[in-house]
Amino acid sequence: MSVLVYIEHAEGSVKKTSLEAISYAKAMSEKLSSGEVIAVALGAISSEELAKSGTAGASKVILVNDSKLNQGIIQAHAEAIAQVYKKVNASTLVLAKSSLGDAVAARLAIKLDAALVSNVIELPDTTSGYKVKRSIYTGKAFAITQVNSAHKILAVKKNAVALKTDGKEVAIEEISLQIAPENFATTITSTDKATGEILLPEADIVVSGGRGMKGPENWGMLEALAKELGAATGCSKPVSDIGWRPHHEHVGQTGVKVSPTLYIAVGISGAIQHLAGVNSSKCIVVINKDPDAPFFKAADYGIVGDAFEILPKLTEAVKAQK
Ligand code: FAD
Repeated sequence: MSVLVYIEHAEGSVKKTSLEAISYAKAMSEKLSSGEVIAVALGAISSEELAKSGTAGASKVILVNDSKLNQGIIQAHAEAIAQVYKKVNASTLVLAKSSLGDAVAARLAIKLDAALVSNVIELPDTTSGYKVKRSIYTGKAFAITQVNSAHKILAVKKNAVALKTDGKEVAIEEISLQIAPENFATTITSTDKATGEILLPEADIVVSGGRGMKGPENWGMLEALAKELGAATGCSKPVSDIGWRPHHEHVGQTGVKVSPTLYIAVGISGAIQHLAGVNSSKCIVVINKDPDAPFFKAADYGIVGDAFEILPKLTEAVKAQK
């Protein structure tokens, strides 16, 4: 038996969340003796990028380098992964929780007659049955899910697992598959990014501004910090409602839910609806001139002060660190 890990990649790079999924699979395999950890990538991706799978814990990578799989066509990806899963005699599929991952995993659960657990945050506990801890209610609570099926699909939450960096060199096996045309019932004809910058839902660092930024003319300051950090920009709901920023940047319960490694909130009060979109972040830094702003209660680090003084200093400090 083996553990198969579905790797997602974008713009030529393996996603960090997929490497986390590999690290999770490796730790799980060591704990439960579940066999070899094999990663599978679909579509064109370089061997240098795939080598990261080895560092993260995979012992082998299977590459299905079919140009029809370059884009994330859900049915086709699910079919390809199901074929590879059977080929390698896997008993568990691990993947990163993501919009593509969710859609592919749901189809795979049917194809493989497998139990699907999403938002997994810990290794399975097999002391009595097979139990998996998952995050629910946007990170505000946990659920223990008992898995009763022989085949299992575990979708790992972003930032829930320490990334392994001491793995070995990985062998890459390129294979081709027969994927029936009906799996390509839809095709993606073009993809337009909302902006030229880093996409908010995927970003590892987010710099977000609220009404405390006073107006759209002040966003340059926030963007300068984001640029230095390689971050995406976000905002609170009123900011996009007033039209200071585009709606796709609105973070929160009714907007985009983010789970970056670092979320910097500038001039945002920290209303519960905003927190619902950010409380899966690994580290939250709040900049607010009001020491009683509710956001400070959810913050790992807080700076009480005027954003217009702090932002340029922070940007300079980041520049100096480089
Ligand atoms: P404010 O509440 O006005 O806060 C501005 C903050 O900036 C204050 O804390 C102030 O101290 C600080 N400040 C002012 N000047 C400075 C300065 N110079 N330097 C530093 N700090 C400064 N909101 C969301 O964000 N996302 C959602 O998805 C969302 N969904 C909602 C859904 C519903 C059904 C409802 C009813 C509301 C929703 N809201 C949402 C709105 C939410 O309740 C808050 O009203 C909103 O988040 C407040 O935005 P804000 O913090 O930018 O503005």
